[in-house]
Amino acid sequence: MTAGALTLRTLNAGIVVCDRCPRLREYCAEVARVRRRAYIDWKYWGKPVPSFGDEQARVLALGLAPGAHGSNRTGRPFTGDGSGDFLFPILYEAGFASQPNAISRDDGMKLKDLWITSVSRCAPPANKPTPEELRNCAPWLDEEFRLLKNLRVVVCLGRIAFDGLLAHQQRTGALPARSGFVFAHGAEYALPAGLTVIASYHPSLQNTNTGKLTRPMFLSVFQRARQLAGLQ
Ligand code: SF4
Repeated sequence: MTAGALTLRTLNAGIVVCDRCPRLREYCAEVARVRRRAYIDWKYWGKPVPSFGDEQARVLALGLAPGAHGSNRTGRPFTGDGSGDFLFPILYEAGFASQPNAISRDDGMKLKDLWITSVSRCAPPANKPTPEELRNCAPWLDEEFRLLKNLRVVVCLGRIAFDGLLAHQQRTGALPARSGFVFAHGAEYALPAGLTVIASYHPSLQNTNTGKLTRPMFLSVFQRARQLAGLQ
């Protein structure tokens, strides 16, 4: 596949068959084989999870990685797990999602002005991709940024996504140094390439069940993203 021939659709097709990380591919396949008792009737996706959303998006939500029994099961980012159950109602309320509930790839969900991706597209054991695995996955993100022509705002869901975005900006030469970029919920930074990044806590159960990330906090992040992207 040559770079010139790439579209977001063909990029997603390449992601789905990627096998650069043997540890992650084996783990995802094993989770898909064994399954969780609650999902024993599901045929798990078990492959790298392609990105999802509006190809004309002005806002990008950048996550960490698929959940083992969430998007590794359903094949769509943030679909079918606790993080997605927290995220999608907020996206609906903020005007980015057509419906509040994300259950499966064919539940009718449509995104407008938003694209969702992650720094690792395969579920990692303990939700922790290695630095090498993140580096393996980085070229997919670089291509995605090149193809999302209308992007103005990136919402980074968690510190690892924030670091992944800064690393991407450095690879492209847009950002000479990371000094001054500190991860904090709600922090906003203008990037040299004309993008604005907003940092947010990740909507993991660990954060949402403890009240570290509340609905109003998360909604205000996406409302601010709309505002910065010129979407009203
Ligand atoms: S994490 Fe990324 S680079 Fe590694 S196998 Fe999955 S899609 Fe490929």
